[in-house]
Amino acid sequence: MSLLRHLAVLLCSTDPGLHRMLQYWAATCILYVVCIGLLLVQVEHNLSNAGAAYGLMTFGAYGALAFYVLIRTNARLRLAPDQLAVGQAVFSLTCAIWAYAISGPLRAAMLTMAVVIIVFCMFALRPRQTLMLSACATLGMGATMWWLQAHDPVRFPPMTEAVTFGYLAGALMSTALLSGEMSKLRSRLKQQKRELSDALDTIRVLATVDELTSLVNRRHMNEVLEAEERRQGCALDTCIALLDIDFFKQVNDRYGHATGDAVLRCFSAAARASLRGSDVLARWGGEEFLLLLPDTAPDDARAALERMAERVHAMKVPGLEGGHISFSAGLATRHLGEPCAEVISRADSALYQAKETGRNRIVLA
Ligand code: GH3
Ligand code: MG
Ligand code: MG
Repeated sequence: MSLLRHLAVLLCSTDPGLHRMLQYWAATCILYVVCIGLLLVQVEHNLSNAGAAYGLMTFGAYGALAFYVLIRTNARLRLAPDQLAVGQAVFSLTCAIWAYAISGPLRAAMLTMAVVIIVFCMFALRPRQTLMLSACATLGMGATMWWLQAHDPVRFPPMTEAVTFGYLAGALMSTALLSGEMSKLRSRLKQQKRELSDALDTIRVLATVDELTSLVNRRHMNEVLEAEERRQGCALDTCIALLDIDFFKQVNDRYGHATGDAVLRCFSAAARASLRGSDVLARWGGEEFLLLLPDTAPDDARAALERMAERVHAMKVPGLEGGHISFSAGLATRHLGEPCAEVISRADSALYQAKETGRNRIVLA
């Protein structure tokens, strides 16, 4: 199994761009193999000249091999992917024209190959390139038909060749024109994919971030707490603190709601800046915040909250010149296996005590 996987990686590559080019190459090879099989049947039933058919098969096989090498070594050659695709299309069209010339009464069937190649181009090339290749295929096939009827009018009756050419030219041109529509459809799909991905990013932010403070919101904090409960194998304590800004209503009443919002924003930035990367501070509601300090002893958690209080006292809030902000906090330690809801409830009681005993303080539950 692993040998097969190694072989698949070796043949198909893990690089997405290269992998896609090799997929197109493999699809072309399947077409070659089918055509070689049919050519062998033609030779077997004397419908094609054996020498000419074997010549074409060898040309096709070496060509396919050469394109595999070109694709694999393209990192060094630095050919644009569409240059390679144009090369492959020209080579395949040459094979189709050659097959037409040697397929006797079955030659009209070879024209379908030319159309299939142009359909391939729709996916790999720009519409203008597909149109150019389609024109080249029409000209190449037309010149071959003209040459065949001029040199062997018995096997290639001029009228039959002319009408066949008419059908082919119509089929190739309409296929090439369709590629323009296809390209518009693809760019519309790409645009929709981009918009969808942007919308998903926005939804992800709205679902996890508090709009006013840019802190984690309550909904996401609940997920963080659930993850904390699932976390196993850590002997260290985890602390949870509930923080509440003191006399916040007075700020709103005295300075206005906009200044109240500014206080919330400044408080959040100052508090966040005093924490470690692993600590999570969330806006729990209104002017209340929940802080999760993973793997932290209560003394260290208290020290972190004291550092935070210093920063909050020192912060400057636009519109609140002269006044300063303080907060009260209730701090609780989570023991191994304890539900976070119980820890939060103890932290809440401690916060109540902090308020009762004068505010601007940290109380350990
Ligand atoms: P205490 O010290 O006891 O906590 O008193 P307090 O005034 O801070 O507490 P209280 O619960 O009486 O008032 C909280 C106020 O917070 C009331 C509410 O209008 C205000 N508030 C809640 N959310 C927002 C918000 O997003 N922006 C603003 N500006 N105010 C808010
Ligand atoms: Mg308050
Ligand atoms: Mg409150």
